[in-house]
Amino acid sequence: MKKLLIFSSMLLTCVYGMGQTQQAAKPATRKFPELEKMTPGMTEIWEPEVKIIQPGVTNSDAPSDAIILFNGSDINKEWIGMDGKTSIWTIKDGALISTKGSGYIKSKRIFSDFQLHIEWKTPSEVSGTSQGRGNSGVFLQELYEVQVLDSYDNRTYRNGQAGAMYKQYSPLVNTCRKPGEWQTYDIIYTAPTFGNDSLCYKTPPRVTVIQNGVLVQNNVSLRGPTQYIGIPEYTIKKHGPLSILLQDHGNPVAYRNIWIREL
Ligand code: MG
Repeated sequence: MKKLLIFSSMLLTCVYGMGQTQQAAKPATRKFPELEKMTPGMTEIWEPEVKIIQPGVTNSDAPSDAIILFNGSDINKEWIGMDGKTSIWTIKDGALISTKGSGYIKSKRIFSDFQLHIEWKTPSEVSGTSQGRGNSGVFLQELYEVQVLDSYDNRTYRNGQAGAMYKQYSPLVNTCRKPGEWQTYDIIYTAPTFGNDSLCYKTPPRVTVIQNGVLVQNNVSLRGPTQYIGIPEYTIKKHGPLSILLQDHGNPVAYRNIWIREL
C-alpha cells in the first residue's frame, strides 16, 4: 500500500510538471482592448493638423507651395545653360522654346523627391519622322529622361515615344494631342537611395507620369540613368539632389507653366 501511494504521488508530480513545462513554452501574446470596448476616437489622428495649401484655380495652375520654374517671361531667373552661361533658348508668346544647337538647359535649383508640372507643344508644322519630329525631353535629376516627342500619327520604337521613360518603359497608352496643341505632364518622382556601393541602388528611382490627365507611367522603378546606346545599369553613380534638364534635340519644342513641389 505504501508503495502504491508513493507511485501515485510520483505520477501526479510528473503530470503536473509536464503541464507547467507546456505553459512556460507558450509564446507571449499581445493584449489588445476587446473590440466591443473600443471607440471610434481610438483610431482617429488629429495632431498635427495636415498642412493647408491653396490649390490652383485649375489643376494646371500652381498651388501655393509650388516653386515657379517658368511663368512665361524671365528664363534666366531659374534656368541656365549647361556650360554655366546664360541660356539662349528663346521666349515667344509666353513660351520657352528649344533653339537648335543651343544645348540643354538646367534648373538652377536642385531637387530630390518632387511633383513636377510642365506643359509642352511640338511644332504645328510637321517636319521629320520617328525620333526626328518634335523631339525634346524632361530629365529628372539630370539623368532620367521622360521623352517629349510628337507621337501623334508618328511611329517610332515604343519605348522612345512621348511618355516613355526613354528606352526603359513604354507609356501605357499613346494619349498625344495633335502637333501644335499644348500637352501636360504631371510627374511624381522619388529619388534613388544608395548604400556604400555606389555602383547600384539601394532603392531605385521611381517615376509616375500623367500625360494630359491620363496615367502613362505607373510608379516604375528605373534600372539606371537614361542611355541612348547601352545598358542603364552600367552607368549608375551615387548622386544626391540634382537639377531638372530640358533637352535641345534640334526641334523647336515649346514649354510653359513649369512648376514644382518638393516632397
Ligand atoms: Mg528626347
